[in-house]
Amino acid sequence: MTVKENLKTIKKEIDAACQRSGRSPEDVHIIAVTKYVSEERTLEALNAGVLHIGENRVEGGVEKKVAIGDRGTWHFIGSLQSKKVKKMIDHFDYLHSLDRYSLAEEIDKRSNQKKILNCFVQVNISGEETKSGLSKEQVIPFIQSLNDFHSIKIVGLMTMAPFYDDSERTRPIFRSLRELKEEVQALKLPFAPCTELSMGMSNDYIVAVEEGATFVRIGSSLVGNEKG
Ligand SMILES: *Cc1c(COP(=O)(O)O)cnc(C)c1O
Repeated sequence: MTVKENLKTIKKEIDAACQRSGRSPEDVHIIAVTKYVSEERTLEALNAGVLHIGENRVEGGVEKKVAIGDRGTWHFIGSLQSKKVKKMIDHFDYLHSLDRYSLAEEIDKRSNQKKILNCFVQVNISGEETKSGLSKEQVIPFIQSLNDFHSIKIVGLMTMAPFYDDSERTRPIFRSLRELKEEVQALKLPFAPCTELSMGMSNDYIVAVEEGATFVRIGSSLVGNEKG
């Protein structure tokens, strides 16, 4: 299938989910997760009208971005080692995996007051041991601790739900992230508007949109998951 065909199907599903939940489809941004696919397929996605690209490796992602030229908004969605922060900041506009104080410290140091990085705090709502992210209870104290870092803007929260055959089972997880986001918003911290929710992947984006996702991260069902 072409990216264009897949995108059409996904947009239709998103429109329907928005209709059901009284939301506006313009508030849902599709990130094409291109970590499995080639530069050509990534370019195909951009040509099909995708505006956001997601990568989970600094090296591979940056190479792809440089080869393609300055197109699209690039999101770093993988776990990030501190030593790769500088390179990530130079090439990506959003980080979806802020999960520790030392990483925030490194971002602030490396950005040298020159750039404000849009960050999502990654939350492990489901509590699965294999998933990264802060526990629900840690999120607010963590965000409050970032007060002195002038290079970091907390745009929202991000989570990954466990894989369930029945995606309906992810609903409580997405709902819980939305409620937590509302709690952060209520703090009215100038550096943490926290208006966005990065949640939903190929298997569960429809439920995520119904529960308020503003960024969905879709790989397999949009661009595929094989090199080539
Ligand atoms: C790979 C990945 C995705 C996309 O997964 P699909 O199931 O292929 O849509 C989304 N988010 C993160 C953090 C990922 O690593």
